[in-house]
Amino acid sequence: MSKSHDNVWTNCLKIIKDNVSQQSFRTWFEPIKPVALHENILTIQVPSQFFYEWLEEHYVSLLRKTIKREMGKEAKLEYQIIVEGGSATGRPYTVNYPNYNSGDSQNLELDPPMVVGNSIKNPFVIPGLKKINIDSQLNPNANFESFVEGDCNRLARSAGYAVADKPGTTAFNPLVIYGGVGLGKTHLAQAIGNMVKQKYKNKTVLYVSSEKFTNQFIDSLKNNSVNDFIHFYQLIDVLIIDDIQFFANKQKTQDMFFHIFNHLHQEKKQLILTSDRAPRDLEGVEERLLSRFKWGLAADLTVPDFETRLAILEKKMYADGIELPREVVEFVAYNINSNVRELEGALISLLAQASLNKKEIDLDLAKKIIKNFVKSISREVSIDFIQKTVCEYFDVPVEKLREKTRKRQVVQARQLSMFLAKHFTKNSLKVIGKHFGGRDHSTVIHSCQAVQNLMDTDGKFKDSVSDIQKKIQMSIS
Ligand code: ADP
Ligand code: MG
Repeated sequence: MSKSHDNVWTNCLKIIKDNVSQQSFRTWFEPIKPVALHENILTIQVPSQFFYEWLEEHYVSLLRKTIKREMGKEAKLEYQIIVEGGSATGRPYTVNYPNYNSGDSQNLELDPPMVVGNSIKNPFVIPGLKKINIDSQLNPNANFESFVEGDCNRLARSAGYAVADKPGTTAFNPLVIYGGVGLGKTHLAQAIGNMVKQKYKNKTVLYVSSEKFTNQFIDSLKNNSVNDFIHFYQLIDVLIIDDIQFFANKQKTQDMFFHIFNHLHQEKKQLILTSDRAPRDLEGVEERLLSRFKWGLAADLTVPDFETRLAILEKKMYADGIELPREVVEFVAYNINSNVRELEGALISLLAQASLNKKEIDLDLAKKIIKNFVKSISREVSIDFIQKTVCEYFDVPVEKLREKTRKRQVVQARQLSMFLAKHFTKNSLKVIGKHFGGRDHSTVIHSCQAVQNLMDTDGKFKDSVSDIQKKIQMSIS
């Protein structure tokens, strides 16, 4: 008696269910429909090519073992992939793919699926979007006109300009812009997006922070809407992801990003990424992603020199209709030499003080104000201060952090203090560990990960962390 595909698949699902997490099962196996069983080939239907690739990458051996167990040694698997809107009628049709790793050597070249439906959920706004309606989330003021050119940004800027001129077709794909805080990564990345939007009215541009991307992905897992998430990102022509260092140690998010990256890149869509360090220094990011980054160009932004700082100040003043004596501007440009954000901060505090005191800003006043400003930005919080702040918050005696206690409350305070020490100070992991009763650097790494994980899953904890962060921040500024 021959078995039906439904029966076979139902039995397979039972086995699979015992071997994957409930979440994975719901996301990746429940949507599969068995459609045919001919001799030893089982055909299953999956909702997208992306879905197919994901299965092949993550579950191929499980699938293979399972169907062999159910159907015998010769069993083979074939996928049928739904392609939306690709046909003349605009109705979904399907294409078949073999299960590559099951011994089928037949290599099918396929057009990537075109997904221009109207049933895709937009994680930014509301369901039911049309491609054209995707808001790019760009700040219109962050453009090339307001971005001052200097030696510190020449390569990144001109690569960015080239990309904006011909997105997806230059060698700079992905374009990775990296550099320290406040040096203009976000500004430049957005400038590219804004220019593309101006030049190519029908291209869809999207700016998203890595954090937002991660949260959307996690939400989609929770809501069982991973497919919507994927489809949404596949619609984008120019995808800008800011601060990808945030992806470090987030395995699932990196996996998802890897697939989206591949799809977009394959379709000659432009990717622009920013990072606070060079791709090679991104710890906790998968090698295969890092190697993708090498396909394009990584260009860094460095600290602007005096002339560029002067030009930036003048541009800001001009834009805001402010006039200041030349010697004051020079004084500020000379003394604030860390990054552009602080340069702007200094200018703002100068103006604020002046209007508060109802005084013209002369060099003397500027000196006074800038002296305070410099003092405040160079003040670094100490690990002791962080420990004190955290312990006060959680009502834990500080000395417990240095002891071996495994009480939950103490462990949490200890781990969070380490996490914040890493975030707010320039101390090495080793030094941080020393401040916690001589723990070693791997403990510190582990703690930081534990905190990150907890923040990702526990909203209340995340709120506590940001409360504490604010307290610490306030003490510095
Ligand atoms: P990052 O993302 O690298 O931390 P931002 O892009 O947020 O830095 O830049 C910080 C501030 O400095 C922003 O207000 C930005 O407009 C400004 N800025 C940075 N670089 C330049 C530049 N070359 N010309 C003009 N403004 C700049
Ligand atoms: Mg930024």
